[in-house]
Amino acid sequence: MAITHRKDTRPVKVGDVTIGGSDEVVIQSMTTTKTHDVEATVAEIKRLEEAGCQIVRVACPDDRAADAIPEIKKRINIPLVVDIHFDYKKALKAIEGGADKIRINPGNIGKREKVEAVVKAAKEKGIPIRIGVNAGSLERHILEKYGYPTAEGMVESALHHIKILEDLDFHDIVVSLKASDVKLAIDAYEKAAAAFNYPIHLGITESGTLFAGTVKSAAGLGAILSKGIGSTVRISLSADPVEEVKVAKELLKSFGLAANAATLISCPTCGRIEIDLISIANEVEEYIQSIKAPIKVAVLGCAVNGPGEAREADIGIAGARGEGLLFRHGEIIRKVPEDIMVDELKKEVDKLAEEHYEK
Ligand code: SF4
Repeated sequence: MAITHRKDTRPVKVGDVTIGGSDEVVIQSMTTTKTHDVEATVAEIKRLEEAGCQIVRVACPDDRAADAIPEIKKRINIPLVVDIHFDYKKALKAIEGGADKIRINPGNIGKREKVEAVVKAAKEKGIPIRIGVNAGSLERHILEKYGYPTAEGMVESALHHIKILEDLDFHDIVVSLKASDVKLAIDAYEKAAAAFNYPIHLGITESGTLFAGTVKSAAGLGAILSKGIGSTVRISLSADPVEEVKVAKELLKSFGLAANAATLISCPTCGRIEIDLISIANEVEEYIQSIKAPIKVAVLGCAVNGPGEAREADIGIAGARGEGLLFRHGEIIRKVPEDIMVDELKKEVDKLAEEHYEK
């Protein structure tokens, strides 16, 4: 079965961000605030922007939420997706209010005139529609056919919604196929990538708390990303959505898919350790979150194996009794007193980032 690689998918514009058509994977998240509470929603979106979120989605459960869209849109810098279930009037209001994309399943809207009205409005504004298939809410005819949620059923559901849009000559489509069962999600995404070339939105739904959900999402989405599938990702966690963005960034870095993010290499520590490595690693990890350059930073517990173990690091520090050794690509460049070694490392990181920005 031919698998569609993310770079071979149809590029779809969401505001000034493109999903699909390249090897880039766009990071998304979703707000947890009441959307009608504009202050709280905008504040959360700002925190998400700061963390590296590239597209944000808000729920639109009622008219108050739909009415808040223009004001939210005015005050944020990243594209806004509005999530609507069934109600075409809210979809029209969201589109009119400036949504950069809507998430709605056309097959759930109802009468053809209503579907046509939403598609016409989206076309006029040039915004895409995401079809969100969820294993937990497949259409009755599909469940009856397969007996229970299957990957085939999920793809069939996606194709059913896609056809409705294609019949109306609408092609700015993004598709997600979420399941909380990791194996089912992997299977569904693989089958979807072979079935159509619309860009794919990845996610493992209801994955759990920060720790368990991170492991589960990384296991499932890692398998899918490694096959070249997926143009945008949202990690779903029962946690602060900023954590979702951090996990997504880290996951993409593992596959070399985050072009402008720094990576931390830190040793697992052992009996040779000479410094308080765990707190230093956490501090440096926090610091490099805001560095928008592909720099590899190492933090190692000792000088015996340290620098040599992290040869690929652009800059690093290894503990030595009472001091730190700053090194670049495995070569020691200078010694620094222990109390300032983290600050010295940060300065070196900033310097490398500056050099990268100037290029
Ligand atoms: Fe142990 Fe040193 Fe290797 Fe860290 S760098 S794991 S402290 S030998």
